[in-house]
Amino acid sequence: MPEEVLRKAASEMLDYKGSGMSVMEMSHRGPVFKEIFDETKAKLKSLYNVPDDYEILFLQGGATSQFAAIPMNLIEGGKADYAVTGRFSALAAEEAEKYGNVNISFSGKGEGFKRIPLQNELRLSDEAKYFYYCDNNTIYGTQWSYIPDVNTELVCDFSSSALSKPMEISKFGLLYAGAQKNMAPAGLTTVIVKKSLSGRELPITPKIMSYKVQIEKDSMLNTPPCWCIYMLGLTIDWITDKGGIEMMQKNARERSALLYDFLDESSFYIKMAEVNSRSPMNVTFRTPSEELDAAFCKEAEQKGLLSLKGHKSTGGIRASLYNAMPIEGAKALVEFMKEFENKNV
Ligand SMILES: *Cc1c(COP(=O)(O)O)cnc(C)c1O
Repeated sequence: MPEEVLRKAASEMLDYKGSGMSVMEMSHRGPVFKEIFDETKAKLKSLYNVPDDYEILFLQGGATSQFAAIPMNLIEGGKADYAVTGRFSALAAEEAEKYGNVNISFSGKGEGFKRIPLQNELRLSDEAKYFYYCDNNTIYGTQWSYIPDVNTELVCDFSSSALSKPMEISKFGLLYAGAQKNMAPAGLTTVIVKKSLSGRELPITPKIMSYKVQIEKDSMLNTPPCWCIYMLGLTIDWITDKGGIEMMQKNARERSALLYDFLDESSFYIKMAEVNSRSPMNVTFRTPSEELDAAFCKEAEQKGLLSLKGHKSTGGIRASLYNAMPIEGAKALVEFMKEFENKNV
């Protein structure tokens, strides 16, 4: 989270704009929260130029709940195409198999998920109800540099790249993100869905997971994650203040280029993602040994460079450079990497 956002939230924590209440205490159906809710939705709509025939939903359950909600609402007992480029798309495909036929259009598993497929490598099936992919592979540090061209509805998990670059929403049937990577605190799942896709859910779909019901209820079938929605509004204000989403993309490219340029020159560190698949959000690499990886993370921590340990399924090192990371953070990391290399070659 950007520090300015945390400070703003702290200043309004006990008494939100003279209401005599904290946002944490308000009824989700009261007028004060209603305004926060409507404004946050409007801000997100404007930030992404979301067309009018789409609905923005603020749900609970995390990105993982959408692994099930998507097939329940969209597969209609038929078939769907999945591009498996990392752990989260693999989990999504596995979940979808419970509700219909899953065609794996691409799997990067054999290659250790180090790259994104080219368009002409995608094996698309004719009758797929949708094509599913994960834009940014948080664990492996890869990102799609293009929007796949498919002849069905495009569904995208952009949990770890939301708010980091413009997205042409009209190309998608549905986009969703667990908010905790780049949007707001944990607890909110943002779904942007084309309204015409609702109403096709399997009869077993729980009401809470039905896009049709959630659209009709404006995300208030039950209590939405009020505090997180408020925080998302503050995050979007901060982005707008900093020059908008294009500026977030520019900053992300500059930050990550510092690291990638250094990694390209170093003969000590081993890069994990292929050059054309590199993520501006998560930079993955390792040292020559697991012992040095551990020493790297420990010494980095002593310098205030935190959360560098790679995901438990991959090991190695991962630098996550979300919107809130100042360029100074990336510079400090490169300096530390140089020192560590010189000490250990
Ligand atoms: C973290 C993450 C998830 C899982 O998010 P939860 O909200 O914990 O379910 C899914 N997809 C991507 C791309 C992620 O980075």
